[in-house]
Amino acid sequence: ATPTALLVGTGRGAQLGILIKGPEILEQTRRVDTVVLDKTGTVTAGRMALVDVVPAAGEEAAEVRRLAAAVERLAEHPIARAIADAPTGVAGEVAGDTVGADIVGADTVGADGVAVGADEVREFRADAGRGVSGVVRTAHSGVGLARRVLVGRLGWLDEQGVRTADVADAVAAAEADGATAVVAAWDGRARGVLVLRDPVKPTSVQAVRDLRALGLRPVLLTGDNRGAALATARAVGIAEEDVVAQVLPDEKVAAVERLQAGGARVAMVGDGVNDAAALATADLGLAMGTGTDVAIEAADLTLVRGDLASAPQAIRLSRRTLRIIR
Ligand code: ADP
Ligand code: MG
Repeated sequence: ATPTALLVGTGRGAQLGILIKGPEILEQTRRVDTVVLDKTGTVTAGRMALVDVVPAAGEEAAEVRRLAAAVERLAEHPIARAIADAPTGVAGEVAGDTVGADIVGADTVGADGVAVGADEVREFRADAGRGVSGVVRTAHSGVGLARRVLVGRLGWLDEQGVRTADVADAVAAAEADGATAVVAAWDGRARGVLVLRDPVKPTSVQAVRDLRALGLRPVLLTGDNRGAALATARAVGIAEEDVVAQVLPDEKVAAVERLQAGGARVAMVGDGVNDAAALATADLGLAMGTGTDVAIEAADLTLVRGDLASAPQAIRLSRRTLRIIR
């Protein structure tokens, strides 16, 4: 391989919005036969929309949403953005959100916590691929009410001894319908379900078609539930047996390794913190330029436009460049 031709390939990549970490990566790119696609933010827009809040019996949708939003404001997952940014009045929000009405404007950032309106969050923690938690202190006419709020997948809350029986049916219904459902809990009990939807990017359908046309096998890999994963797979034309759902970040690595052990040369496309290890494990890692820095650092290639269509383009480019060289 002449260095000049490789540099030309690299330069052409840059024009196409494909940043290649080094010319030698074109060779790895050419050899892949399987492309593992993360779902959220990679195949889908990653702009989840909060479409419903289903409170557990005796709870208020508005309070479930408000406390969940207080914690999610500190997180960076698309789910967090959707919950934190949802306009009030939407998604089951009911009137009666009176708490803190007189403390509006108290959004100050402190050293150990962030005040969100009247809700001050301390001890924030994000558990990649599982959920978030924090102690939310609500000022109630001078009297502080502190609650440890958890927002995340049902199984994660179960593991922490949260009583989730009250919301299990609502979660199952939302997931069967192809939505993503996360549970908000405090004081040891699940208080409600936040239902989100994330549309497939219009360009993803053609991108998957292009990957197939190049002889590559697309696989969908996601931490999300099986119902949501299948809905996305159906939308872009990925076979049901090529859907791996409900995997934790380290299981994403295991899924890539399993394919490699079966003889596949695996490219992985992802955007999240939860994808970083799998991107590094894959024979070729492709990060969405719209994704997290951790994913971009772990990858060999960055798809600057955040468009899955750049993945087949990168592979086509590497094949063409190396054919010229030989
Ligand atoms: P994906 O693989 O589709 O990008 P993730 O692995 O990031 O999904 O997340 C898997 C699951 O973990 C989500 O579907 C959700 O149930 C839960 N989760 C992750 N981050 C959060 C968060 N910030 N708030 C609530 N739930 C979360
Ligand atoms: Mg993702």
